[in-house]
Amino acid sequence: MSKRDYYEVLGVARTASDDEIKKAFRKLARKYHPDVNRDKPDAEEKFKEINEAYEVLSSAERRAQYDQFGHAAFDGSQGGGGAGGFGFGNAGGGFSDIFDMFFGQSGFGGRQSGPEKGSDLRYDMEIAFEQAAFGLETEVHIPRTENCTTCHGSGAAPGTHPETCPQCKGTGQVQYAQNTPFGRMVNVKACDRCHGEGKIVHTPCKECGGHGKIRAKRKIKIKIPAGVDHGSRLRVAHEGEAGLRGGPPGDLYVYIFVKPHKLFTREGTEVICEVPISFVQAALGDEIEVPTLDGKVKMKIPEGIQSGTILRLKDKGIPYLRGQGRGDQHVKIKVLTPQKLTERQRAILNEFASISGENVNPEQKTFFKKVKDAFGV
Ligand SMILES: [Zn+2]
Ligand SMILES: [Zn+2]
Repeated sequence: MSKRDYYEVLGVARTASDDEIKKAFRKLARKYHPDVNRDKPDAEEKFKEINEAYEVLSSAERRAQYDQFGHAAFDGSQGGGGAGGFGFGNAGGGFSDIFDMFFGQSGFGGRQSGPEKGSDLRYDMEIAFEQAAFGLETEVHIPRTENCTTCHGSGAAPGTHPETCPQCKGTGQVQYAQNTPFGRMVNVKACDRCHGEGKIVHTPCKECGGHGKIRAKRKIKIKIPAGVDHGSRLRVAHEGEAGLRGGPPGDLYVYIFVKPHKLFTREGTEVICEVPISFVQAALGDEIEVPTLDGKVKMKIPEGIQSGTILRLKDKGIPYLRGQGRGDQHVKIKVLTPQKLTERQRAILNEFASISGENVNPEQKTFFKKVKDAFGV
C-alpha cells in the first residue's frame, strides 16, 4: 500500500505555517478520535495516519527531511505512529504511542485515556509432515486475559458503576512540574488515585476483584490450511489478550513447526524421496512401488538407470497454499551395490565381466582415457 502524502493527509499546502498545520491536525484529530468513532473501524486507521503526519510536519527538522526525501526519510527508523507493522508482543500495539503524544503535545484536557488494543499472543504448534501438506482443524488451549463476563470489564459489581476519578477528571493522567537542568518542565504521569484508569470502582465485582479482567484458559478452534510449511505463521484475529478501556483484543499468532518425516523431505511444494533399487533392477528395468503422501503408487524404472537419477511423479507433492494444484514428488534412485556375494553369485558376475570385455564398462573406459590424457600415463 502506498502511503499518502503527509500534507495531503492534513489537508494543508506544502507552504503551510506551523500554526496552520497545528490547527488542521486538531480539527482532524477531533473528528477521527477513536473515542467518538467507536462504530467506525476505519477511523482508527485514519486517526493513526493523521497523527503520523503531524508527528513529522510539527517538527521543523523532520519536516525538512520529509520535504527532501519524502517517506523514505523515515523508513524503518520511526518508532511511533507508523501506519502498520507493530512489533510482536508489543503490549498495546501502537495506540499507546499515539495517545502519549496526543496528550503530551496537544494538551487536550478532560478526555479519558483512550481504548488500547490487547497484546498479541504466540502459540507454537508442532504438526506432522502430512498435516502440513493437507491441513487440519484442531483445538488449542490458550491461557489469556479476558474481560470479566460478570462486570463486562468495568470491574464494578453488577448494578453499580465506576465513578470518574475526581483527581484526574477521568483522563488517567496528571500534570506535574519538574525542575531540570534545562529549566522548569511540565510533565504528565499516570494518576496515582485511579492508577491511570480514569475511573474508581467503589463496589468491586466479586468475580474479578474489581480488575475487570480474569485469567482464562480458552479452547480455540484453529484451522491450518493445506500447504503450510515449517515457520509459517497464522494469524487468528481477536483471540489475543483483552483490550484495555474498551479497546479490541489482540490477535493470536500460531507458529507452525513441521516434524521431519522418515521418508520424505520437502522443498516448497516439492516432495523429495530417495528409493533404493538393486543393481539388477537398475540394469534390467522394473516396476516398483513408491511411497507418496497419497499412499503407494507404481512407478516404472527404465532399464539402464543410473544411481542418482531423479524420476518425477506429477501432482504428488504438497498442495499450493494459495490457489489450486500441487507440486510434484521427486524420486531419487539409489542403486545398491550387493555385498557379501555367494560363490555362485561371484562366478556369475565374473562371467558377466568376461562377456562384457575387459572387466570395465564403456563409460569407465572413457574415464580411464581421460585420466591418461590428463596425466600422460
Ligand atoms: Zn468482574
Ligand atoms: Zn485519576
